[in-house]
Amino acid sequence: MNTHLLKTRWQQLPEKSLRQLQAEQLREYLRRVVLPFSAHYRELFRERGLTADSIRSLEDLQRVPFTSKADLLNTPDNSQKAREFVLIPDPRVLSRRPSTILKALRHGREEVKRGFEREFRPIFLTSTTGRSADPTPFLFSQHDLDNLASAGKRLFEVCGADREMRLLNMFPYAPHLAFWQAHYGGAAFGVFVMSTGGGKVMGTEGNLRLIRKIKPDVLIGMPTFVYHVLHQAAEEGMRCENLRRVVLGGEKVPDGMRRKLVNLAAELGSPAMEVVATYGFTEAKMAWGECPCPADRIPGGYHLYPDLGIFEVIDPKTGEVLPPGHPGELVFTPLDSRGSVVLRYRTGDCIDGGLVYEPCPHCGRRAPRLVGNISRSSEVKEMQLDKIKGTLVDFNQLEHVLDDAGNIGAWQLELRKRNDDPHEVDELILHVQKINGADDDKLVRDLNSRFVAKTEVQPNHVVFHDAEEMRDLQGVGVQLKEQKIVDHRPKPASGLANAGKTADAKPGVAEVGAIHEARKE
Ligand SMILES: [Zn+2]
Repeated sequence: MNTHLLKTRWQQLPEKSLRQLQAEQLREYLRRVVLPFSAHYRELFRERGLTADSIRSLEDLQRVPFTSKADLLNTPDNSQKAREFVLIPDPRVLSRRPSTILKALRHGREEVKRGFEREFRPIFLTSTTGRSADPTPFLFSQHDLDNLASAGKRLFEVCGADREMRLLNMFPYAPHLAFWQAHYGGAAFGVFVMSTGGGKVMGTEGNLRLIRKIKPDVLIGMPTFVYHVLHQAAEEGMRCENLRRVVLGGEKVPDGMRRKLVNLAAELGSPAMEVVATYGFTEAKMAWGECPCPADRIPGGYHLYPDLGIFEVIDPKTGEVLPPGHPGELVFTPLDSRGSVVLRYRTGDCIDGGLVYEPCPHCGRRAPRLVGNISRSSEVKEMQLDKIKGTLVDFNQLEHVLDDAGNIGAWQLELRKRNDDPHEVDELILHVQKINGADDDKLVRDLNSRFVAKTEVQPNHVVFHDAEEMRDLQGVGVQLKEQKIVDHRPKPASGLANAGKTADAKPGVAEVGAIHEARKE
């Protein structure tokens, strides 16, 4: 059976046969699972005159319309929008299938019923974080949890885990994919993983205490939080000589952040520490990772699992599918998902090196890979730099500029209105922590010239803070996700333009601190 071939040889198949097998698996998945049991896609395919048999090759997938975040958001007349995407099996359809009848004859009806429950009954969920206005719940059946575990096991293999290692999972304890991917992956791989729950559960101090106690080989967590913890460890003169790897997820990982972590690890007594990044999102119900490589080499990209899902890279403006190796927006279609299912899901994430099929230069695996940096379209914000017109500013780029700059540690970009007057122009305030005892004026000049070289904006003010103030500003231990970009501009009357920012609108303790600091300037 071809599905079996794809499952067992997922990291060995050449591009052509891989794409053909994926198309076959997709056709079967649509025929047996999605179209009979998904209210949304049954209707969409009917409207377009499509059936499972319309998919003969992966190119045919382009006939299926995209699904986007907006399709999953509740509307005034539908407060349960995400439910339309949950598979609800029809027992009559299932019981008529020859495979069901055969199984019932062999093992009895009770066993058949248990099998269907295992496959379809939702028993777990993770949800999106504050990036969309309402967190969208994504349901998992036991079948999905098995896939989460198997994707996690592969993720651990790709990231170079070894069963003798001790791992510390510092992702925030929440119904979010990252924490559970690390948990299920570790259990499936069969390695010791201690989960701290992140900063909000036990604070920086609690995480440091466990590092002292467990002496982990690997730290897993979000870049900003791992950076804070290691920085604090270095300040306290701690030693962590066992540290071999840091596995990052939940945020993008600029090169500058990798360098900072490698330098901190060296200070702590682990000069050979490697950083690997992972990428995942709620709607995929899995994450992918890089394989380890020396710090001076270009990472091999995210190694994909072609039997569990299909990635396409599209032109974000036209929606056209781009050839391998071209930058564009990532679109995902699962191949074995139950519970909540979205097809051709537009992630809003752009990859600058595209999707490639050549064997990985570091580990030699043939699985397709996503290479280069990922940036999020939600981080392109409109700024009113003068009173005439708005300018689109790509905060992804500003983040790279800051993470790549020397002599600065943690940072935060704050957007506000001049004098807090809603009719005034926007101002950009950069909060930074200096490191290596750099001179203030020289650092400001250096930062300004970096901004000018790479972007069209420059910070209106630069405010220096010590490590503790930065932790307060970013909400370490208070927020689930550290705040690197905060928008303190008053919300416009129309909700639509600002839909993605609701999560920022409620000031937490950290943000009140930020307002205070900026006024002192
Ligand atoms: Zn590799």
